Amino acid sequence: MSEPTVHPNRIGGEERLGDDVRTVRNPSDLEEVVGRFARAGAADVADAVEAARAAAPAWGARPGPDRARILAAAAGELRERADELGTLLSREEGKTLAEGIGEFRRAAELFDYYAQEAYRPVGTLLDSARPGVGIEVRHAPIGVVGVITPWNFPVAIPAWKIAPALAYGNAVVFKPAEQAPASAWHLCDVLIRAGLPDGVLNLVIGSGREVGAAIAEHPGVDGVTFTGSTEIGRALAATVAGRLGKVQLELGGKNALVVLDDADLDVAVECAVQGAYGSTGQRCTASSRLIATRGVHDAFVEALAERLRSLRVGHALDPEVFYGPVASEAQLRQDLAYLEIGEAEGATALVRGGEIDAGRPGHYLSPTLFVGARPEMRIAQEEIFGPVATVLEAQDLDDALRIANDSPYGLVAAVATRSLAAAERFKREAEVGMTMVNLPTAGQEAHAPFGGAKASSYGPREQGRYAREFFTTARTAYVRAG
Ligand code: ADP
Repeated sequence: MSEPTVHPNRIGGEERLGDDVRTVRNPSDLEEVVGRFARAGAADVADAVEAARAAAPAWGARPGPDRARILAAAAGELRERADELGTLLSREEGKTLAEGIGEFRRAAELFDYYAQEAYRPVGTLLDSARPGVGIEVRHAPIGVVGVITPWNFPVAIPAWKIAPALAYGNAVVFKPAEQAPASAWHLCDVLIRAGLPDGVLNLVIGSGREVGAAIAEHPGVDGVTFTGSTEIGRALAATVAGRLGKVQLELGGKNALVVLDDADLDVAVECAVQGAYGSTGQRCTASSRLIATRGVHDAFVEALAERLRSLRVGHALDPEVFYGPVASEAQLRQDLAYLEIGEAEGATALVRGGEIDAGRPGHYLSPTLFVGARPEMRIAQEEIFGPVATVLEAQDLDDALRIANDSPYGLVAAVATRSLAAAERFKREAEVGMTMVNLPTAGQEAHAPFGGAKASSYGPREQGRYAREFFTTARTAYVRAG
């Protein structure tokens, strides 16, 4: 398939070029252009919403199997082209090729899963308190859904929002992150060619301030599902709720991996390396706090530091690298600033990261491991979103749980232990939406509910059957025979 010179927005079956174009470069090699993308504005959002509103009733009224066939056809193409499109994803975002390909395979799985959901439009029958009366509950689409997504999972996050939105019968206005729109563009292209009627899926690529805000404010958008920073999410929720729209937010994390004295040390170190440094630490599920109890602390820190010193960082397409570059200049500056903040607060960088020369002009940053930190330090409280982890020492499980819960966030928490009793307590007492036992904090699956507690999430959960809560509304009917 040949790449268009400028990738257009997709509005109501039309390919629309704007006045302005954004050039996306490869963070592994800034001399390489990944693609050029037409930028949409607020007027394009208005047209996209109008097209979506026009298309929504017929799409929502189609039998589930009809919608399912289109989603399944898209899943097939995404799977078939996972190598090609995964390479593009790695070029635009900087994550390794294995992760880029894995993300497209994940997107295919999500469309397969929600195609199956479209086959199963399950409702509920209730007995009435009155003789001869029955009560039926159906799940109807909410109408038009605004989808706003970040750059760190440029196809998986759009897929886990768009797939259920379409499966449950909604039309979509989608704004991907401007820094990484290439995977999103192809996702929409595949879906539209798979047979979506005009206006059911509209793509508007543009800035958050203009295009994102226009989606949030538009009275024709019935619900907005957003993944991004807590600060933007909070303001967006106020805007959407202010006009009585539905909101679903997935926000930041400051996730803890707790390593107890009885842990298998190899498992604990592997969980820390994968969880904290995989995807260059640019995951809302990254384990950026490593809480180790007294008896294991020194051995854990030593083994982890040794692994980090040999970790290979470089061009995302080099099959030998563990992680690729930081995705953007702004993110690199933020990561470097936190290294200085940590040192100024009095923590010790046992492994001190810094910019490295990987042979090409890119945002390369080696890993950092802080030790001797205290829970109240900024490096232990704030989301960094880079290859940086902070070790905190705990007395015992009680103390570890107290430290783990001392956070404004509550997305996911992991524990490394051989004790069933400790794992059971952790699952119940960690104030988070998801826990992991002897597994990294990252690595959630498509058919299970995803989301967190406290400032990590707002509104109904994403993924699995739970996604139905946000993307549909209950219609209750009372029926008296005769
Ligand atoms: P990050 O850049 O860390 O992923 P952001 O919250 O900045 O997190 O961005 C997430 C998504 O929200 C992006 O698509 C971005 O363009 C969009 N966005 C940014 N500002 C706004 C806003 N004021 N209103 C709506 N969306 C926004």
